[in-house]
Amino acid sequence: MRQPNTAAEREVLEHERDELIDDIEKTKVLLQEEVKAEVDEGDPGLFDREMYRALLTTLEKKLESVNAALRAIDRGRYGTCERCGEQIDPARLAAKPDAVLCLNCQLQVERLTKKAALRSLMMESE
Ligand SMILES: [Zn+2]
Repeated sequence: MRQPNTAAEREVLEHERDELIDDIEKTKVLLQEEVKAEVDEGDPGLFDREMYRALLTTLEKKLESVNAALRAIDRGRYGTCERCGEQIDPARLAAKPDAVLCLNCQLQVERLTKKAALRSLMMESE
């Protein structure tokens, strides 16, 4: 079987990974400065800190998925759904180069995640 040519995708993903690592570092510095400022000024930076923390989580998740896509390229499995083994729609890959699940599986996983989150929320309130 012919290996798909994924050189262009790898380049896009590696570039995105470098940018994400850069952004994560910058956000960490900003967050640290907010934490330091807090000691002197009481707590005016609470909103900023929450924002940076949320941003950091988003960036780290994105980095994780970019790395997963790069690993898929290494294994020659890029463009194949990790869950069901079907081909991922090329249009989906073009819009989201770090996709490792087909749209169907992505939606199912999201549904399951939401259900699990809801369940743990309900258990907490009991
Ligand atoms: Zn799938």
